[in-house]
Amino acid sequence: MSSTHSPRIAIVGAGFGGIGMAIELDRAGFHDFTVFERADRIGGVWRENTYPGAGCDVPSPFYSFSFAPNPQWPWRYSKQETILAYLERCAIEFGVADRIEVNAEVTAAAFDEATGRWEVQVNGSTESFDLLVCACGQLSEPTVPAFPGADSFTGHSFHSAHWDHEHDLRDERVAVIGTGASAIQFVPEIVPQVGALHLFQRSAPFVIPKPDRRYSQLHHRLFRTLPALLAAERFGWFLVSEYGQIALAEHPSWLNFIVGASRWNLNRAITDPAKRAALAPTDQAGCKRLLFSNNYYPALAQDHVEVIPEGVSAIGPHTVRSDSGLTREVDTIIYATGFAAHGFVAPMQITGREGRRLAEDAWAGGASAYLGMAVPDFPNLFMLYGPNTNLGSGSIVHMLESSIHYVVEAARAFARHPGARFAVRRGRHLLYDSEVQRRLATSAWASGCSSWYVDETGRNANNWPGTMSEYRWRTRQFRIEDYEALDGGADGPAPSEERETVFS
Ligand SMILES: Cc1cc2nc3c(=O)[nH]c(=O)nc-3n(C[C@H](O)[C@H](O)[C@H](O)COP(=O)(O)OP(=O)(O)OC[C@H]3O[C@@H](n4cnc5c(N)ncnc54)[C@H](O)[C@@H]3O)c2cc1C
Repeated sequence: MSSTHSPRIAIVGAGFGGIGMAIELDRAGFHDFTVFERADRIGGVWRENTYPGAGCDVPSPFYSFSFAPNPQWPWRYSKQETILAYLERCAIEFGVADRIEVNAEVTAAAFDEATGRWEVQVNGSTESFDLLVCACGQLSEPTVPAFPGADSFTGHSFHSAHWDHEHDLRDERVAVIGTGASAIQFVPEIVPQVGALHLFQRSAPFVIPKPDRRYSQLHHRLFRTLPALLAAERFGWFLVSEYGQIALAEHPSWLNFIVGASRWNLNRAITDPAKRAALAPTDQAGCKRLLFSNNYYPALAQDHVEVIPEGVSAIGPHTVRSDSGLTREVDTIIYATGFAAHGFVAPMQITGREGRRLAEDAWAGGASAYLGMAVPDFPNLFMLYGPNTNLGSGSIVHMLESSIHYVVEAARAFARHPGARFAVRRGRHLLYDSEVQRRLATSAWASGCSSWYVDETGRNANNWPGTMSEYRWRTRQFRIEDYEALDGGADGPAPSEERETVFS
């Protein structure tokens, strides 16, 4: 490729998405890129979420880059620090670490119609780029609902994603608000320390056993000497996840066995009938995220743990009150209340053609993007882990690699058509979005629970309604005919051009 045609690319965010994007661009011969990361270290959610017990729900042989298998995973399901170390090692070994600017927050980006470039504001100064790739994650903005009276609380409080490691919970009365994926990981870790734990649970999750195991030295040796074994384990988990994803998206009844597995997991640990009843899920299996744990229910069985199967209605100077008025005096509140998952690139302000703002105009009715990546009127902008690319079962890293491949193909198309302004065709995007929403309407996620996938209007802006394989298939090629040839470039579709491929 001629270096004169190589686009200048900005990548926002240095989690799995941003790091993977940087590595694949570099491997494809595009060296003119910068990764901007607002924090002081790379890692995304695996840097932020340091709460006790933080870890992955997908086995590491599968929750890792396909191009960077790791024969040394200590456990099948890695903890946060292991994943963070892996990602940092990838950035160094693949030679992109020095392309990452940390403490560099992108506050805004605007498409300049005169030059056809993105004007990107970083820490108050502006830089121009040909392509803008947003890899901001779906779960990078912790959120706490506006509980009445929360400001009056005089004890200590923090969000699980901003764990206060300086704060000693020993013998304290602690309220945990929320019972999602984070809470079920940290609650078992803090139960032995606290004096009393009051768990406020709006709805009970399905918690099934986690088939975790420590990889032995023999495993490590075999994985090193016979990489096909590690690949086979990866493929096995891929197949299991595909089953889960088909079940969640198309055949919710295939998940009926989850009800039994969860009940067995619950009943073997909890003997108190009232606690059992409080912890028995009432939603359809899979409507909310399915959770895996071997130590959550045993922790809740302890006498000093109270499960309050209600939401929180108010917080006082020393108290937390439930919807029905149960009031508990507490020293510390831990908010396990999740993330603002529908903003995708928020709080970054993105402005496209004719002054159209992404959040306020294009997404006024809810976020959507063609293949989760491209939005009409926002030329040469791509998102990773964007709208409708989340999974109920599977590895987000797999989805990210599919999107990354597509963006590399887009960069190649740009290199062939310098100055091109690739804006996805409105009709193409609408057709795609209506297909996605039609398919989601019969999924387990649409069965009536409240979950982070579904926004206030009832729209599922987060989940992908197919398999990981389908997404990979649909993103295998950057089809120039899906894009408008706006002024300044892309003057002719090139669907039949020879394509190189990043994945072998
Ligand atoms: C606790 C937790 C557990 C999870 N467990 C699993 C799991 O088991 N399996 C699974 O598949 N997925 C899991 N996920 C989902 C996880 O988000 C994805 O797997 C994956 O890490 C997403 O990577 P990312 O790079 O897209 O986003 P992130 O990891 O969220 O990284 C985004 C990065 O962008 C940066 N950023 C955002 N905005 C800006 C800006 N304006 N300027 C500069 N930098 C910016 C952020 O600081 C962050 O570093 C989990 C998420 C959480 C929070």
